[in-house]
Amino acid sequence: MNNSGRRRGAATFLPAALALLLAYGAAAADTAQTPKPAGGRTTEATLSLGEAMKRLDGELLWDPMFQSGIITSNKHQAVFQAGAAGDSALILYDNKTLLNLPSPYTENGQLRFPETFIAALQSSIEESVEREASRLQIAAIVVDPGHGGKDSGATGSLNVKGKRVKVLEKDIVLEVSKALFEQLKKKYPGKRLILTRSGDTYPSLEDRVAKAHSIPLKENEAVIFISIHANSSFNKHASGYEVWYLSPDYRRDVIDPGKAGEAKEVVSIYNDMLEEQFTTESVLMAQSIIKQFDAAFGKELPSRGIKAEEWFVVRKARMPSVLVELGFVSNEKDAALMMDTGGRKRFADAIYNGIVEFVDRFEKSGGFTEVAGR
Ligand SMILES: [Zn+2]
Repeated sequence: MNNSGRRRGAATFLPAALALLLAYGAAAADTAQTPKPAGGRTTEATLSLGEAMKRLDGELLWDPMFQSGIITSNKHQAVFQAGAAGDSALILYDNKTLLNLPSPYTENGQLRFPETFIAALQSSIEESVEREASRLQIAAIVVDPGHGGKDSGATGSLNVKGKRVKVLEKDIVLEVSKALFEQLKKKYPGKRLILTRSGDTYPSLEDRVAKAHSIPLKENEAVIFISIHANSSFNKHASGYEVWYLSPDYRRDVIDPGKAGEAKEVVSIYNDMLEEQFTTESVLMAQSIIKQFDAAFGKELPSRGIKAEEWFVVRKARMPSVLVELGFVSNEKDAALMMDTGGRKRFADAIYNGIVEFVDRFEKSGGFTEVAGR
């Protein structure tokens, strides 16, 4: 514990207008005293400020004018106002919970904390810390460039400076995936990052899924899976990006998503087959990514939206998964953007920003469905 007193950073907790004093340094000298009964009332056991902060492993910010204080410990805080000995007071814990506890009070210019006040605060903090430790975390991110090797994926051609060049989905998605992967690696040194292929190879769908499933996970850890593809259509005017949420084992490929709208009964059977996919998390990740695409491309590239919403099933997911279709290799404008180094970087950036936003929200909430179920 820090015995030296003032900490500048802590001052941000209180409105700047208030005169602040960090009372700990001064009060630490106040050795334990036996509480004196006040006005004949029985006073419960109390602790000095030094003892109280030691118990909580905390620090106090004290405003002598308003007789109010903020105790911080393990990133949690309790706001209180000192009263008279024997009073009870409402304590605001973590800006959201009110605790009704015996009030701290000043005696001979020194703060005294009722034993029950400190004990209650201590257990609140312990509970919070425990809850945080069990929260869902994204432990690993799998980036999956579609196709590869013998499988080119969608193909097209493009006029570049009077020359006809081939446009191969497998090449585009590999470059975008690698850029995305590098950015994620920099951002999340503590997470495991997996690229399902880093060259012109063809891992089977089973290989890709097996890679994701082979990541050892603790009870509170989840993996996210992002597959990157490019679209194609006989209609040369078809253009734009879309994000699918899907199962990590590519069941999307089993049932043609294009037919999903017409075959609702097939979809419902399909739904029943799913164990842990098509979850809230997948949809939210898809939303985060599409939002970032909208921001990055505006009117330049149309949004085709999030697909497969009719497959929505709320389950506790361990692997939120999405599939991103960057644009159409069959469309001149889309293809030009995807064949351009700067264009690819913009795709990678947009996906990256979407993932970061998703991971941030996921980890803050401890996993969305977890919170919703509580
Ligand atoms: Zn593809």
